[in-house]
Amino acid sequence: MSIISKDISKAIELLNNDELVAIPTETVYGLAGNIFSENAVKSIFKTKKRPSFNPLIVHIASKNRLSNIVSYIPIKAQLLADAFWPGPITLVLPKKEIIPDLITSGKPTVAVRVPNHPITLQLLNQLEFPLAAPSANPFSNISPTKPEHVENYFKHDIKMVLDGGPCKRGIESTIIGFEKDEPIIYRLGSTPIEEIERVIGKISIKNKEEISPKAPGMLERHYAPKTKTILTDDLTKSIKFHSDKRIGLLIFNDILNDDNIQFKVVLSEGSNLYEAASKLYDALHQLDEQELDIIIAEKLPNYGLGKSINDRLSRATKC
Ligand code: AMP
Ligand code: MG
Repeated sequence: MSIISKDISKAIELLNNDELVAIPTETVYGLAGNIFSENAVKSIFKTKKRPSFNPLIVHIASKNRLSNIVSYIPIKAQLLADAFWPGPITLVLPKKEIIPDLITSGKPTVAVRVPNHPITLQLLNQLEFPLAAPSANPFSNISPTKPEHVENYFKHDIKMVLDGGPCKRGIESTIIGFEKDEPIIYRLGSTPIEEIERVIGKISIKNKEEISPKAPGMLERHYAPKTKTILTDDLTKSIKFHSDKRIGLLIFNDILNDDNIQFKVVLSEGSNLYEAASKLYDALHQLDEQELDIIIAEKLPNYGLGKSINDRLSRATKC
């Protein structure tokens, strides 16, 4: 029997009993539990095999509840919440004492967002507590963007995937921290930098070495297929070089025909970066199922969401 279901009241019952439920968001599916339940939070880490030094994002029903979670809101953080929530921006701010250290891995700050998915907003509105919800995949595997991806990973571990259909945005939220009240991007994501800068002006990206190398979204190898995967800006050359292998292709917009290619996925025939982002992880899941020797991924244009997609692809292709 499938564990995929649209039954919100069942999800509420499980969450109220300290159990985990996979929930849909606009970015990826999350593995959710009550932030105040030690059992639930511990089983998130255990189920995902996620290291405990790796803090979780807290999901709330509305921006009005931000002040229940954080002790201080810089002006630019409020501007971002007003402009983008519900939506794929996560704010890292000083935590209130009630937020358990397990959630923040002992840090004095907490990551918070309001997800933009009608079913999950309905769920959050009916719960008495916020949800911790990291992506519903085993640590460092490809993130899930369809209920079936979660079921494949966790059918023996969780009782329910709340079915919200395929995720519309398809890559994780953009994470923004604050240093001396100035915002800094900690992780590229579904909200492009250009859109953020329209609201709060110039913003810098924290470079990888400065961030704790232990932050998961920042780990070099992450979001990775099991099949060897390479990233290239010269497809023809890479296909030629690997011509003795069973090749899978992940390409942006071009219909490229070559006898050496066993399987290919085009992310957006119309060159739309939003469409490409929404299809990225499903494409990697599909390619990984084909018993290929190698997946060759094409670098996307390096602006807007293309920058975030390239970030994920470069982590998926690290050895
Ligand atoms: P995931 O839920 O798998 O998308 O990962 C959550 C991301 O948020 C990770 O990359 C964390 O490092 C980051 N994060 C969560 N809490 C904090 C925090 N307090 N400070 C910095 N980064 C955080
Ligand atoms: Mg993740």
